[in-house]
Amino acid sequence: MSILVVGSVAYDGIETPFGKTDRILGGSATYISLTSSYFHKPLKLVGVVGSDFADSDIQLFRDKNIDLEGLQIDKSGKTFFWKGRYHYDLNNRDTLDTQLNVFEKFDPVIPDSYRDARIVCLGNIAPALQGKVLEQIDKPDLVILDTMNFWIEGARADLEGTLKRVDVLIINDSEARELSGEPNLVKAAEKIHDMGPSTLIIKKGEHGALLFTKGGVFSAPAYPIVDIFDPTGAGDTFLGGFAGWLARSGTYDDDNFRRAVIYGSAMASFCVEKFGPERLINLTAEEIIERYTDFRTLSAIPVQQDDVF
Ligand code: AMP
Repeated sequence: MSILVVGSVAYDGIETPFGKTDRILGGSATYISLTSSYFHKPLKLVGVVGSDFADSDIQLFRDKNIDLEGLQIDKSGKTFFWKGRYHYDLNNRDTLDTQLNVFEKFDPVIPDSYRDARIVCLGNIAPALQGKVLEQIDKPDLVILDTMNFWIEGARADLEGTLKRVDVLIINDSEARELSGEPNLVKAAEKIHDMGPSTLIIKKGEHGALLFTKGGVFSAPAYPIVDIFDPTGAGDTFLGGFAGWLARSGTYDDDNFRRAVIYGSAMASFCVEKFGPERLINLTAEEIIERYTDFRTLSAIPVQQDDVF
């Protein structure tokens, strides 16, 4: 059983009300793979970086035993760069700059040793590239896709084509409304199911997440964290925890999807505590299990004989 992760490997400039950095390691594939690596190996990365990508960042992936055979180093250009600014309401951010750089002519080539991956995480990246990855692999157990407004607005036809082959779609509430053209999230979920994904997860920023499966709806709580420092990467980290748990446990029923949503939420709650992926570098299994247990307790209601009438 292996996990394949494709997505952006980037440098980010981030401004939050609490601090600013001009350049920090980022990208969807970075967050997903760092997070999944706590749950399951082998983990196989597909992406591209440019001539400016630091050896120390390559080493970080190696230290986490992430397989880099599918990471291309394109010396003819620079690494993908994204710049964003968050408001006091940390659910809202403005994208100030997106420089695709080496992603503009990236052609993903999947190494032979990656082709039999069982779980495929299509991190946020151009939907046409996500589709190209699927074309090159054997039929996996589960295809999970994340995307964002940038692609819903700029590459809708490609996205709709790729979605037909996706099992689980993970997006935030405003993206779900935009993709479906439907303001009500339950109706939006029905429309999105018709586009391909049998499972849909709608993230609601600091307000938790909704899981829509054929079996019904599950509402995951939000963690009442005192200090949110930087929300960048929380969505990708959620995906990494979700996929990581499914790979580790090896079952894909509705109950296990619920656990996976809670592991995703727990990992995202760590991510936001520090700048960029910093908090994801040195977590311990004990910390992860403790946070997962906290989450479970948050909305558990002990059954009592007289609590219904
Ligand atoms: P998230 O906060 O989970 O939505 O993800 C933030 C990460 O997404 C940042 O590290 C960015 O480098 C990356 N990112 C931003 N825009 C794009 C894009 N258009 N395509 C791929 N990755 C992106």
